[in-house]
Amino acid sequence: MDNNQKKQKRGKFIVLGVFIAIILFVALIGVIVYNKNKQEEQQLAYTELIKDINAGKVEKLEMTSGSQSVKVKYKNKDEEKKVLVPSVQAFVELVQGKVDTSSIENIDLKQKEPSVITSFSKNFISLLPTILMVVLIIMIYQMQGLGEKGKVYDGAENDTNVKFDDVAGLEEEKHELIEVVNFLKEPKKFEEMGAKIPRGILLCGKPGTGKTLIAKAIAGEAGVPFIPMSGSEFIEMFAGLGASRVRKLFEKAKKIAPCIIFIDEIDAIGSRRTSNSGAESENNQTLNQLLVEMDGFESNETIIVLAATNRPEMLDKALLRPGRFDRQIVISAPDLKGREAILKIHAKDKKFEDDIDLKSIAEDTAGFTGAELSNVLNEAAIIATIKKHSKISNIDLEEAIKKVTVGLEKTSRVISDKDKRLTAYHEAGHAIVSKFLATSMDVKEVSIIPRGVAGGYTMYKTNEDKFYVSKTEMKEKLVALLGGRAAEKIALDEISTGASNDIEVATQVARDMVTVYGMSDEIGPISLRTDDPMELQLFGKDIEDSIGNEIKKLIDEAYIIAQKILVENIQILHEVANVLLQKEVISAEEFEEFFK
Ligand code: ADP
Ligand code: ZN
Repeated sequence: MDNNQKKQKRGKFIVLGVFIAIILFVALIGVIVYNKNKQEEQQLAYTELIKDINAGKVEKLEMTSGSQSVKVKYKNKDEEKKVLVPSVQAFVELVQGKVDTSSIENIDLKQKEPSVITSFSKNFISLLPTILMVVLIIMIYQMQGLGEKGKVYDGAENDTNVKFDDVAGLEEEKHELIEVVNFLKEPKKFEEMGAKIPRGILLCGKPGTGKTLIAKAIAGEAGVPFIPMSGSEFIEMFAGLGASRVRKLFEKAKKIAPCIIFIDEIDAIGSRRTSNSGAESENNQTLNQLLVEMDGFESNETIIVLAATNRPEMLDKALLRPGRFDRQIVISAPDLKGREAILKIHAKDKKFEDDIDLKSIAEDTAGFTGAELSNVLNEAAIIATIKKHSKISNIDLEEAIKKVTVGLEKTSRVISDKDKRLTAYHEAGHAIVSKFLATSMDVKEVSIIPRGVAGGYTMYKTNEDKFYVSKTEMKEKLVALLGGRAAEKIALDEISTGASNDIEVATQVARDMVTVYGMSDEIGPISLRTDDPMELQLFGKDIEDSIGNEIKKLIDEAYIIAQKILVENIQILHEVANVLLQKEVISAEEFEEFFK
């Protein structure tokens, strides 16, 4: 037994121990409560009751048929007592012989039908320890993996009917993955040839780019089961459970092989091992188990493990070694052609007006992921339905794009004139500043109608997709972002909380420029991942000060440029803001008019 397995065994014992302790504790409490109830019931002895009846103290005797106790109600006090009897019948006989008839005549003798609830709850309480024991046994059973047929992990196996045709764009990626499909179909052929097929493939890309979809499509093309699980499921788990889940997942996979295991968000379990704090060491156990399983594949087991992450650089290097996830496929957001293809796929089951132009929508949605595009079409269908259109129109689609990017129009929100004025200047500021920047995109629409959480928005025409972004572009992006705040300050001599999101984004851009893209003159092209303390330590204490200074310098410069542009164009700023206050929305053409 190697170290990992030992650790995992120990984890399992700890979990078991805790459960047993809890169960015993609950059972003990149950017994105490039960006995206490019994004691209360025994409070009154027969002889006492008879004495009391004879003394004329008793007002009422209540008997529930089938029950083994009689409630005694007293005349003077609110007090109630109980007498235990073998049966109501026996009680009546007993009492009748021993008390004066005169005193019993005045006693209200009631015989009630048993109330379902009380008898149920009593039964339940007495059954509680048994129920808990059964639960415990089931748990142990499952943890030991004896529950063969039981659903021991959330990810149920299923046969997907997704095919490569359902995945638009991603042509190279599909091409690369066809060999995996072939291997799953005919493993023998590859074996005979002595070919090694990768066992673990890492799909890297933003959420919604189709990683899950393409993994399902591989399973669908090969006609094998797809076993999904998500790394984030393990984050809040009890010690040892994560590892045992992984083990069980692979056991299951081995039974139904050939198959595909898909681990979403693998970074949640496979992050670099830095410290040994609680959650981390649990992740370590899970990660270690995963490594053990990946190494333990026999050559005749036809299982492919696909894993998805947005942050491959965060993964523990051990995961990426040969024989594990040694192949990486980057899934990027789709380009223009890809977007059009994705739109076509998701448009299939929807009704559109004849003049709909999916290509122009693809042009308007640079940077959108497949999930966002599918979302746009779905929103458009919803909007068309609400507006009682017979088919989805271009206007519905435009509205859907805005809804997905900026949020839902909030026409009912009441806005004070002061806020409106502030928003008008803020948005005019963004738009005008952008106009004077060489690399900035053209303004498509400026609006002070609130949407989502934003009080207003400036939308840009998206340019053709680009892979790289230059330093000049990033610097100018900062200027455009700070244009809103600059306009508030210059025109109204007051600044507001309205710029908070702009500031957050600008700071992140500046930080990336310095720490990720090595664009700071002072620090130079060095990667300084601020989330990894080890990396910072390499460069001494002063590096953190330098990072801060450089970020501040970038922001300060950008803010000054934004203000300068607006001061020089103060007349246009007032004009645009005033038109916005009157019309609420300014189109691209209307905006250009201000500069003639
Ligand atoms: P990820 O796993 O990368 O987060 P998903 O595979 O879950 O993304 O994608 C979410 C949804 O987005 C898919 O179910 C599909 O409807 C749509 N989608 C994403 N990429 C594509 C694509 N290339 N072609 C067609 N639909 C896509
Ligand atoms: Zn803004």
